[in-house]
Amino acid sequence: MNALAATSRNFKQAAKLLGLDSKLEKSLLIPFREIKVECTIPKDDGTLASYVGFRVQHDNARGPMKGGIRYHHEVDPDEVNALAQLMTWKTAVANIPYGGAKGGIGCSPGDLSISELERLTRVFTQKIHDLIGIHTDVPAPDMGTNAQTMAWILDEYSKFHGYSPAVVTGKPVDLGGSLGRDAATGRGVLFATEALLAEHGKGIAGQRFVIQGFGNVGSWAAQLITEAGGKVIAISDVTGAVKNSNGIDIAKLMKHSAENRGIKGFDGGDAVDPTSLLTEECDVLIPAALGGVINNGEMHMFVVQILAKKGVLILPDILANSGGVTVSYFEWVQNIQGFMWDEEKVNRELKTYMTRAFRDTKEMCRSHHCDLRMGAFTLGVNRVARATVLRGWEA
Ligand code: GLU
Repeated sequence: MNALAATSRNFKQAAKLLGLDSKLEKSLLIPFREIKVECTIPKDDGTLASYVGFRVQHDNARGPMKGGIRYHHEVDPDEVNALAQLMTWKTAVANIPYGGAKGGIGCSPGDLSISELERLTRVFTQKIHDLIGIHTDVPAPDMGTNAQTMAWILDEYSKFHGYSPAVVTGKPVDLGGSLGRDAATGRGVLFATEALLAEHGKGIAGQRFVIQGFGNVGSWAAQLITEAGGKVIAISDVTGAVKNSNGIDIAKLMKHSAENRGIKGFDGGDAVDPTSLLTEECDVLIPAALGGVINNGEMHMFVVQILAKKGVLILPDILANSGGVTVSYFEWVQNIQGFMWDEEKVNRELKTYMTRAFRDTKEMCRSHHCDLRMGAFTLGVNRVARATVLRGWEA
């Protein structure tokens, strides 16, 4: 099942549990606007290269649309569509005043030079600048993009509209980015996991974690979990996987990964097959690589059954990874206020938001007799549906 079908299935199940009117259900599912642009740039060697860029603006009932821009060779309209929809439910679960959007360019960022990436980002921004904005749609980093990408978007956008730091989040701190934004998604994973474990009378300390993915989310989660006393016993990225039942030395792995562009060859544990990670014996499994890992067809059934049998806990992604967009919201608020927060305040507020999102999700599970995944979807969909009805449809 593709990403859009899987996301829409979750949405429809939530809409049914909530007893939503069928017309409202249909209108919530269909994106507000889908943008597809052609981006041609001269490569460093003088030849021309063309890429297709997308921005899907899914819903704005609760506020400006919000979501990352992804540079990845597998970016396609269906996937961006699904991810935009997920952002709508995610911002609603986090209870931040945003709708959802997502963008992407079908390219392999690792094969492009810095100046090629800059040209591509600027051309993409030229094509969409009229359709994004501080109060309409606020992009952020995602897979394959980072603070530097946001700096280029900000600069290009500002040529048309005047200096507007709040038009993107996840910017470099020197350009008005928020302290703590870089670690925010990983830190949010830690807080959400903490809240879930607390329900079972446990803490992070002493638990055994398996983390799939060692990019921005996985590496921060691994670091913060280790700091909190958790034991990361297996971790993977696209280059390989390592296992060490005594706990992996994350600082050492970070260094190795930076020097060797990946986990492969790390000598602080046994090299294992990355595909074996999802069924590795552990207390908490964190899939922090590409989406769709534990919700696709047979894989879903297989993993969930094994996880359930072993008593492993599962947090839904729209709750677990909402820390990034939550701190994006804090960044946007700071830009609009023209007042910067210290990192301690950012992290404290993030904890409040994550803990509340978890508590609200549990409440939906209780009132709608469903699991955490459906609890998060019903919570998000219900908030968006209420905002939509309140705003009305009168022309
Ligand atoms: N790309 C992140 C996400 O998908 C962050 C989005 C944002 O900060 O707007 O949640």
